[in-house]
Amino acid sequence: MTEIESTLIELNNAIKHVEQQREKPAKSVRLLAVSKTQVAESLRSAFNAGQHCFGENYLQEALIKISALADLNIEWHFIGPIQSNKTKDIANHFDWVQSVDRLKIAQRLSNQRPDNLGKLNICIQVNIDGEASKSGVKPDEVLALAEQIKHFDKLTLRGLMIIPAKTNDSQLQRQSFQRAQALFNLLVEHYPSVDTLSMGMSSDMAEAIEQGSTMVRIGTALFGQRD
Ligand SMILES: *Cc1c(COP(=O)(O)O)cnc(C)c1O
Repeated sequence: MTEIESTLIELNNAIKHVEQQREKPAKSVRLLAVSKTQVAESLRSAFNAGQHCFGENYLQEALIKISALADLNIEWHFIGPIQSNKTKDIANHFDWVQSVDRLKIAQRLSNQRPDNLGKLNICIQVNIDGEASKSGVKPDEVLALAEQIKHFDKLTLRGLMIIPAKTNDSQLQRQSFQRAQALFNLLVEHYPSVDTLSMGMSSDMAEAIEQGSTMVRIGTALFGQRD
């Protein structure tokens, strides 16, 4: 067994464990492999070991890998900050965009999504802790943006993406996750297409699942430290 295979098994078991503890349905939490800075061959190994969705932050780097791995049926998620001059390539090459944080970006993605591709799956990135340095909409702006996204015919609103503030205080962290979950529940009530709360990374995966995450985005714990 390769190292990446055994790491994937461990990660999926860890997810399963929290699902069971929390009495969630099996496979209700998806694992997104965050592959920024990793070479295409590492992604290929992970794919061969059963991992089919990958998240990338940097467009130019991602396009090289998407082209190198075109023979694989990968589901590509864009999870990095988006400048408006990048939306065309994103709309052409990705299946999901998790980092939508303004109307203009949503509009461009919808206009530029090619007809022969299915709808683009969208998560609104929320700045759940109101950090000045972080992108994402304010929690009280989420519903307004969701309502606008609903009217774009090439987009499907799937949910929210959360990156909480870095903290060693587990109670503060839990509160951030809980606020995200409450916002997600509100969105679910209003929009039948919403099913995804993307929350939790290598260091806080279990806690995020306990607080309602349906998709964890894992880089370091899968591929090792980034340079
Ligand atoms: C890099 C990144 C991750 C993965 O972080 P790890 O700590 O390496 O698991 C998840 N989400 C986003 C948005 C990222 O940029």
